[in-house]
Amino acid sequence: MAQSKALLVLENFIGGKFIPCSSYIDSYNPSTGDVYCKVPDSGKEEVEAAVKAAKDAFPLWSSKSPLERSQILNKLADLIEHDLEAFAQAESKDQGKTITFARTVDIPRAAYNFRFFASSILHHVTECTEMATMGCVHYTSRSPVGVAGLISPWNLPLYLLTWKIAPAIACGNTVVAKPSEMTSVTAWMMCKLLEKAGVPHGVVNIVFGTGAKAGEALVCHPDVPLISFTGSTLTAQRITEKSAPHCKRLSLELGGKNPAIIFDDADLSQCIPTTLRSSFANQGEICLCTSRIFVQRGIYSEFLKRFVAEAKKWKTGNPSDPTVDVGALISKEHLEKVRNYVKKAQAEGARVLCGEGVDALDLPPGNQKGYFMLPTVIAEVKDDSSCMQEEIFGPVTCVVAFDTEEEVIKRANGVKYGLAATVWSSNVGRVHRVAHRLQSGLVWTNCWLVRDLNLPFGGMKASGIGREGAKDSYEFFTEVKTITIKH
Ligand code: NAD
Repeated sequence: MAQSKALLVLENFIGGKFIPCSSYIDSYNPSTGDVYCKVPDSGKEEVEAAVKAAKDAFPLWSSKSPLERSQILNKLADLIEHDLEAFAQAESKDQGKTITFARTVDIPRAAYNFRFFASSILHHVTECTEMATMGCVHYTSRSPVGVAGLISPWNLPLYLLTWKIAPAIACGNTVVAKPSEMTSVTAWMMCKLLEKAGVPHGVVNIVFGTGAKAGEALVCHPDVPLISFTGSTLTAQRITEKSAPHCKRLSLELGGKNPAIIFDDADLSQCIPTTLRSSFANQGEICLCTSRIFVQRGIYSEFLKRFVAEAKKWKTGNPSDPTVDVGALISKEHLEKVRNYVKKAQAEGARVLCGEGVDALDLPPGNQKGYFMLPTVIAEVKDDSSCMQEEIFGPVTCVVAFDTEEEVIKRANGVKYGLAATVWSSNVGRVHRVAHRLQSGLVWTNCWLVRDLNLPFGGMKASGIGREGAKDSYEFFTEVKTITIKH
């Protein structure tokens, strides 16, 4: 690793080479509050060089067979798996997440993303129809689009970046990726493996820097015809605006305000531990996290009592301690933002039952300046309060009571977002009925975060445009053509 004054210094990866940048941004270790890394502050010039490298690499890469590309992707998956522990340590230090989460979720999934698309690219079929009376057959053919611009957030850094790189290159595109400026280290580490995996120079280029400079330069580049973005709804609006003059193809995976609906016939022995995970896993910094829990009145008191008692058992502290459940939030500013939501709810008359402002945070000496917060449960919140309407993206969840199915569907749908929902009931008819009526791209019933990557992933309303998954990503990252043959 490049070191300067004991700091880790990252470099852009362009055309198969690490290239230093003229200016850098400080990157913090969220669990100590110390600057430990310098991230390139790239702009137009670096993006220009990366797009050129990607354009130059496109003819050769796009002409390889799916099988050749598949073998390279599998090799890359092997290399990431081989270095899993080093990647997990780096992700935990850079992001603040627990080492356990990085080891069991982030890095295994990053490797699996390559393995999954290495396989799925071999199994697509195109369409064919016959018009016998006209003596014609029609068929579709698909080809890669060109240079893909990929922009990813800080919550699941390598996991979400590889979820974009893998399908893009499996389909024969070349890419310029820009990870979040707050979590760039594992992307930089992965660049070191590309050559060994057999990825030709220029197929994957990574430009580090801020959204305003590097991100926007990528979005506005005329030679980048498609942008795959995961991040906030606000940034997506800006990207849509900026890319509009170029008529770019956009995939937008955005925020959520996800409800869990718990009917009185739910199996609470399954529901409570899963709803704790869906609320607080990764410090609540997952777009799919539950932040509004609707509990049917008959079991409301019991649920709340048991849920709060269990939430209090979640251990918050040093992310590298394997017994810790809640690590640090991403930044000082984000911690402040999340805390302010809790304060605002209190000022509006809601009750904070555990966590922020109620229980004491007990941190080891080395973590006193880290950005920590206890899992926080809020009750008696009004549906129109900001805690129930806005994405908080931290370890905060609201619990409210409901009476009828009709009422809860209306309330669950009463936000601008529509990403994920969870329904708990032992009545099969009811879970189907409710799932069908929820305005949500994903509905989990009696479980959470069980994913089949073959199926569409994405949100409705302000949670996004487009879907990702085996077929959906293939369609997004390829251009389709209909060809007619008359015989
Ligand atoms: P963000 O929108 O601030 O940043 C995301 C990325 O966009 C970063 O790389 C950032 O540098 C870049 N960016 C910022 N401004 C830009 C601009 N003007 N032009 C181009 N790029 C720009 O989001 P974040 O705070 O990093 O991530 C948290 C958000 O991501 C939450 O809203 C969360 O729900 C969402 N998210 C969604 C999903 C999903 O799959 N739907 C998954 C994870 C996170």
